Amino acid sequence: MAHEEQLEELRALMGEIIDVQSATGLLQWDQEVCMPPKGGPARGQQLATLAAVAHRMLTAPRVGKLLDALGGASGLDSDSAALVREFRHDHERAQRLPERLVREFAEARSQAYEAWVAARETSDFGRFEPHLERIVLLSREKAEYFGYSGSPYNALLEEYERGMTAEMLSVIFGELAPRLRGLVARIVPAAGPSAGAWLDRDWDEEIQWALTLRVLRDMGYDFDAGRQDRSVHPFTVNFDIQDVRVTTRINRRELFSGLTGSIHEGGHALYEQGFALEDRRTVLAQAPSLGIHESQSRMWENMIGRSRPFWEHYAPVFREHHGAALGDAGPEDFYRAINHVAPSFIRVEADECTYNLHIILRFEIELALIEGNLRVRDVPEAWNAKVKEYLGLTVPNDAAGCLQDIHWSHGGIGYFPTYALGNLYAAQLFETIQEALPDLWEQVAQGSFAPLLAWLRTHVHRTGRRKLAAAIVEDATGSAPSAAPFLRYIEGKYGALYGI
Ligand code: ZN
Repeated sequence: MAHEEQLEELRALMGEIIDVQSATGLLQWDQEVCMPPKGGPARGQQLATLAAVAHRMLTAPRVGKLLDALGGASGLDSDSAALVREFRHDHERAQRLPERLVREFAEARSQAYEAWVAARETSDFGRFEPHLERIVLLSREKAEYFGYSGSPYNALLEEYERGMTAEMLSVIFGELAPRLRGLVARIVPAAGPSAGAWLDRDWDEEIQWALTLRVLRDMGYDFDAGRQDRSVHPFTVNFDIQDVRVTTRINRRELFSGLTGSIHEGGHALYEQGFALEDRRTVLAQAPSLGIHESQSRMWENMIGRSRPFWEHYAPVFREHHGAALGDAGPEDFYRAINHVAPSFIRVEADECTYNLHIILRFEIELALIEGNLRVRDVPEAWNAKVKEYLGLTVPNDAAGCLQDIHWSHGGIGYFPTYALGNLYAAQLFETIQEALPDLWEQVAQGSFAPLLAWLRTHVHRTGRRKLAAAIVEDATGSAPSAAPFLRYIEGKYGALYGI
């Protein structure tokens, strides 16, 4: 009986923390979607205060006492046991960092972000260098407080991809990199420099917007439990299972970038709308890692949105809306254009074949920084050498090189590998899905995604944090996560596309 009361009290405290986190998310959403520019400094203070409040609530002694009492309790049902286990994980991890370090890191981040924006605008790494130096030092300090075995990088990786290690990543990426480089080397001469002359024009922004809404609705995104707005960088945020919002950006010159942004964020959002309602306001209604979250966005964006059957359905829809602007482009032209492969400097614009190479080079640089094998001042040189080696390109300046991403200025060292893992998990899950749903492609060619979504709900979404990412993949597919399905997918698709 006592356990039931303790569990109820723990759930209530957890619910309050999640309310504060949700309010934080709403302030962030507002900041990127509608806040007037002068609201920035005050918003920064509001966010810092709420972060401190949430941290204090999470590390409260009462939470620790309840977790201790329930941790040893027998007779908890499996959901309650998972809830206690996951909440304990968050509580203990938060407790390991002294508040001094939390505050110092937050300050360093906000200064680094400002410096990074200025450095990127002027393409001057020197302006960012002292800030990155500080982020690396504080990250190493964090790693010591968190504790780790093997590389100190593992302590940072744990924040984003629990159970993954630098040693495991080195094995996976060591298999991936040479195969991708070989594939890209064979494709480039066959692909040519242009995705198609017919794309080179302005595309009506209202029409583009309407098409993103149409595809989101077709995917199964619930607009009564979400909405789409515009922002500079597309993102997904939830304040509840039934309030999951996405953003996209529309570019007049790009036929596909708004759409792929919406499909990508829609994949994230379907995951969050798909958590079990009974897990609401608990840590179970969360993804266990960023990699598994990214597997959902990548699957929808790449395996579905860049597939031939998808364009068999949507090329005529595009024609209904864009009309004569499309010339005589048909489904095959759409399919080829959206899958055009060309090594480029900018990660977020990279095609499926080169994308993971961008990630691998970032991982290698981060690892060397954290392990003390690379000095911050040597990052541009190391970056440019790796871009030359992996992508065959000469970086013209740091803005198109090591200053292009926001992550390091946010203190997000250990984050990048989750993007590549998302691609691998997606491919592995998708192989199983194609076996489980033999008429998947016929459905997609009719714009019907319900069977796919139902499969994902059952095998991924509703699980929430009851399992780690690797266990979700293994239980769904019968094998531990590996690079093999992704390599089969990418070599099969692009080998056929380019006849190589
Ligand atoms: Zn994503």
